[in-house]
Amino acid sequence: MPKPGVSILVAESNLPDIALIRSSLSDSVDITFSIDTAVSGSDTLEKASDKAFDLVLMNESLPGMTGLQMLKEITERKLGTPVIMIVADGRENYGAKAMDKGAYDYLTKEEVKTNALERAIKRAISRKKLEHNIKESVEKLQKLAIRDGLTQLYNHQHFAEVLKNEFKKAQRHMQPLSCIMMDLDYFKSVNDNFGHQFGDYVLSKAAGIITMLVRDTDCVARYGGEEFAILLSNTQLNGAHILAERIRSAFANNVFRKGNIAEVVTVSMGVSSLSDENVNDEQVLLANADEALYRAKRKGRNTVCTSEESSEDDTVSLKEDTKKIKSFFRKFQNINENMKESCIASAQTILQEIESGWNYINEHSVRVSGYAEMLSKELRLSREEIDIVKRAALLHDVGMIGIDSDILKKKGKLTDEEYDIMKKHSNIGVKLIEKTRLFEKELPVILCHHERFDGTGYPQKLRGLNIPYGARILAIAEAYDTMLSNTVYTKARSPKKAAAELKQCAGTQFDPHIVDVFIQMVAKNA
Ligand code: GH3
Ligand code: MG
Ligand code: MG
Repeated sequence: MPKPGVSILVAESNLPDIALIRSSLSDSVDITFSIDTAVSGSDTLEKASDKAFDLVLMNESLPGMTGLQMLKEITERKLGTPVIMIVADGRENYGAKAMDKGAYDYLTKEEVKTNALERAIKRAISRKKLEHNIKESVEKLQKLAIRDGLTQLYNHQHFAEVLKNEFKKAQRHMQPLSCIMMDLDYFKSVNDNFGHQFGDYVLSKAAGIITMLVRDTDCVARYGGEEFAILLSNTQLNGAHILAERIRSAFANNVFRKGNIAEVVTVSMGVSSLSDENVNDEQVLLANADEALYRAKRKGRNTVCTSEESSEDDTVSLKEDTKKIKSFFRKFQNINENMKESCIASAQTILQEIESGWNYINEHSVRVSGYAEMLSKELRLSREEIDIVKRAALLHDVGMIGIDSDILKKKGKLTDEEYDIMKKHSNIGVKLIEKTRLFEKELPVILCHHERFDGTGYPQKLRGLNIPYGARILAIAEAYDTMLSNTVYTKARSPKKAAAELKQCAGTQFDPHIVDVFIQMVAKNA
C-alpha cells in the first residue's frame, strides 16, 4: 500500500539546514514527505498562497521578514496552513510567542535533527484535520438550525430574522419589498383521507414547486404546518402578485402522486408590499399578507388576494361615514338574503303546481338542508359558507322537474336508460337556477352533489378534494335522509344502520373525513 503523502513548504534560507530537514524526514516509515523550499519572506508567502501545502516549516527569521511577521501575513491572508516554527537553540521564548500568534508548534534546531520533527508534523496535521472536521460540523449545525427538516426550506425563526433585516434595508434604501403568505387548501382532509405520510410527502414536494418558481434571492420558508412564506426583495406588489399567481396555477395543475394515490392540492395566497399604506414595521407587512390570505380562503380558496384589494375595501369605510355605510350594507345584504329565500320558496310553490307529487322532493330538500346546515356548522364553515350549503341543499333537486314524470314516479328499479336520463337533473337544475343570477356560489354545489369521492359519480366524474366542499357535505346529508325515508327502492333504515352504511361508503362514495364528523354529530344529537 502506498504511504500517504504530506506536502511541506520549508521556509529556510540556509541550505545545510534544508538538507538536515530533508534527511530527518527521509527515513519515515509511514509517510512520504514532498518538500518545496522558499528562501525569503516574500517567496514563502507567494508559494504558500499559490499552492495548498499541508504544512509550513518556517525558520524564525528569513531574509526580508521575521517569523512572526510571516505568521501574521499567513493569518491575514486566511491561508489556513498550519505552521511549525524552527528557532535557534535557547530561543524557546520566541517559539512560545509564535504559538501565541497562531503557530501550531515550535522546534529547536537541535530537535529538528531528531524524530521529534516527524512527530510534531504528524501532530500538526492531525490537529488541522480535527479543526477541519469541527468547522464542517459547525457549518452543518448552523445550516440545520435555520432549515426545516421536512422541506429543507428556511424555518419560521430564520424567516423572521431575514424579514427584519430586509425590511430595514428596503426602508433605508427606499427599495421595494413584498411578502407572500401561502396556505395549502383543505390539508386536514388530505391527511385524513390519505394519511400523514402522504401529507408529509405533499409538503416536501410543495416546497420543491415553490423553490423552482422563485428567484435565488427570494427567501422561502415553511412558516407553519402547511403554511409557507416568501419574502421578495426588490419586488413591487404587482411583481409579487404575478409570481403568486404562477405558484397558484402550478399547484392547481399539479398532481401529487405516490403509490396509487394521485391528488391535486390547491393553495391560497395573500400578497402584501412595503408600499401599502401604514406599513411602518415588518410585522405589519406580514399581517397584511396574512389578512389577504384569509380573504383568499373566504373567496373559496385556490385564489390569490393582495393587501391592496383588502385595503381598498377599508378605504371606503375610512373615507366615508362608517356607521351609515355599515348600516346600508347590513340592510342591503338582508334584502339580498330575503330575495334568495323568497326565490327559493317561490320555486318550491311553482314546482308543486307543475308537478303533482313534488311534495316528497320538497320535504326531502328541507330535511337535507337541515342536516347540511348542522354538518357545515360542525365543520366550522363560515356563516356565508353555511348559508350557501343550506340554500344549495334546498335547491339541489330542482332539476328533477326536467325529468319525465313517468320516470320520477316509477315504482321499481330504473332501467339503465332511465337512470341516464335521471342523472341529468343536476345539470338541468343548474341551468334553471343560473337564470336567476342570484345563486352563483350555490351552483357548483348543486351541480356536483352526485359526484363520488372515488371519481365514479356524475356529471363530471370529479374526484376527492376536487369536488366542491359543499357538494361533499350535501351528498352525505342527502344520502342520510334518503336512507331514513321509505322510497320506491328501499324501506326506511334506522339512524344507526344509515350511519353504518355511510361509514361503509366512506372513501368510495363519500369524503371519509366528513362522514366521520357527520356520524359523530348524529350520535351527539341522538
Ligand atoms: P384551509 O383550506 O382552511 O387551510 O383548511 P386546512 O384543512 O388546510 O386547514 P387547517 O388549519 O384546519 O389544517 C391544517 C392541517 O395541516 C392540520 C394538520 O393536520 C396539517 N399539518 C400541519 N403540519 C403538518 C405536517 O407536518 N405534516 C402533515 N402531514 N400534516 C400537517
Ligand atoms: Mg390549510
Ligand atoms: Mg393552515
